[in-house]
Amino acid sequence: QFAWFSWCRSGFEPELAAELQARCAGSGLHGYARAVRDLGFVQYIGESAAQLEQLDPRQLIFARASFLQHLHLSGLDPNDRLGPLLESLPDAFPGQRFGRLQIEHADSDSGRPLSSLARALGNALRGELRRRGWLDPSDNDRKPRLHIGLLSGNEMVVGRAQSAWGPAWPGGIPRLRSHPDAPSRSALKLEEALLVLLTDTERETWLKPGMRAADLGAAPGGWSWVLAHKHHVQVSAIDNGPLADSALATGLITHLREDGFNWHPAKPLEWMVCDMVEQPIRVADRMATWLREGWCRRSIFNLKLPMKKRWDETQRCLDLIQHQSGRSIELRARQLYHDREEITVFAG
Ligand code: SAM
Repeated sequence: QFAWFSWCRSGFEPELAAELQARCAGSGLHGYARAVRDLGFVQYIGESAAQLEQLDPRQLIFARASFLQHLHLSGLDPNDRLGPLLESLPDAFPGQRFGRLQIEHADSDSGRPLSSLARALGNALRGELRRRGWLDPSDNDRKPRLHIGLLSGNEMVVGRAQSAWGPAWPGGIPRLRSHPDAPSRSALKLEEALLVLLTDTERETWLKPGMRAADLGAAPGGWSWVLAHKHHVQVSAIDNGPLADSALATGLITHLREDGFNWHPAKPLEWMVCDMVEQPIRVADRMATWLREGWCRRSIFNLKLPMKKRWDETQRCLDLIQHQSGRSIELRARQLYHDREEITVFAG
């Protein structure tokens, strides 16, 4: 039985299931979502692999990473988990040679304890697959990836992902190290957003030294610091609260004690970022105004989600931006690893 398999933040399975249902229905794909709360993944059962492969995981907001599930192996013998897998691979993927092996587990209470088993199985399996010629001798990101999702000590799902579906971060989580000088842990959120929502080329061309940005709701300055310290962008940091010394020490950040819902720049900026804790629809409305008025060319902002009907609210906010920004804009949204009850959006 073929399924679309996506990892998500534990607790957000209903949102991801609703999203998959909506996107599949919109593309005329028939199937149903299978989601259990707090497991950290959702499966969407469809009619055929070819049909499911029409989904584009880069458009999914609540999925961190996805693959097309071809096999589900359960009741595995702890002394020989790989035997049945190696036996079934040739039938599941006839003639396929993979560029990379990815062994993953859920980022959930039940999934995290599987990390050392995943590492050990990965090391053993990688060697064996290479010996049999089913995996390239070194990681090759131009070929499809073989994904193995460990669901428990004796159960796994096996599938394939296209390399074009995005970088190979296990579970869709890029490993980022916090910087001792960063004014807040939120800095990691913007770093992750720039990595996940932009391509390498876009990051290089759209973030250049000397560009100008505004940061609405900037204090204590994590996001401003990322733009200034890492990308040498000049930032107007809007917040009534104080900025950390490490932010001011970059020499590129100007602190303005203004209301982020009123302030706008005198001249157009390359970027506006916004992390104000406010009702998402109010933030969405302000973001649309910035884009419509041409006050910024591109933006990255957070939408804090309500407790209920989060998928409905997400759609409402993104629709509002799309319709009120007055020009054709591209929206990319994702619940990042560093996002708790929120999503991060790129608009440009
Ligand atoms: N992105 C910041 C960082 O990386 O350090 C953290 C921002 S914090 C989550 C939210 C900030 O939004 C608070 O400092 C708060 O003062 C600010 N804020 C909320 N409403 C605001 C408004 N109307 N105008 C300006 N700042 C506002």
